[in-house]
Amino acid sequence: MKSQPVVLIVEDEPAIADLIAVNLRHSGFRPIWAMDSDTAQRELDAVLPDVILLDWMLPGESGLNLAKRWRAQARTKAVPIIMLTARSDETDRVAGLDAGADDYIAKPFSTKELLARIRAVLRRRTPEQTHAPIAISGLVLDSSTHRVSFQNQPLKLGPTEFKLLQFLMSHAERVHSRGQLLDKVWGDHVFIEERTVDVHVKRLRESLGLAGKMVETVRGAGYRLTAQPSSH
Ligand code: CA
Repeated sequence: MKSQPVVLIVEDEPAIADLIAVNLRHSGFRPIWAMDSDTAQRELDAVLPDVILLDWMLPGESGLNLAKRWRAQARTKAVPIIMLTARSDETDRVAGLDAGADDYIAKPFSTKELLARIRAVLRRRTPEQTHAPIAISGLVLDSSTHRVSFQNQPLKLGPTEFKLLQFLMSHAERVHSRGQLLDKVWGDHVFIEERTVDVHVKRLRESLGLAGKMVETVRGAGYRLTAQPSSH
């Protein structure tokens, strides 16, 4: 990865864009701000960013349209897109992911969470085939020894729960639908009802104890493992 990943911020509200830019700069990123879709396209033509933060509600072409367009173009299709949205309605979330967004974050958001999401999409775009243990907020999964621990306390997991956790931890912060989880964890040749996923997620949470809250239900969309669970 480049030493200073470039983040294109497409956001029409200067105060929000500025807040994001300041935080990104402090964290070693190089932010570029575009306040509308035309400017965003020009910036994108000039420099291919490492990540795009894309506001849903923009003057002119909507963020959703831009995401669809950029996903369809060879040059931009691999650039991770995180949608910034005031909408938390479940149909909108699904629409955002369907349009090709890698993730979305609802306003108001903490900049700490936004940075965590950006790092997560960057990690996913540079996959490493190592079997090094994965550690997220005290939760550690070691696939070579098949061991899981939380805050150094070993945890006992069934084989399916282990595979499920392994997938969720290697794709942390991202929302996965039940269908996707069936596909990735169980294999698409197996005919299992999507409800089975809920059963195993429930078991996984129970096995994880205090770390169980890191496995979040995203209503209408699916599940994700997050380093910063929201309190309910
Ligand atoms: Ca806006």
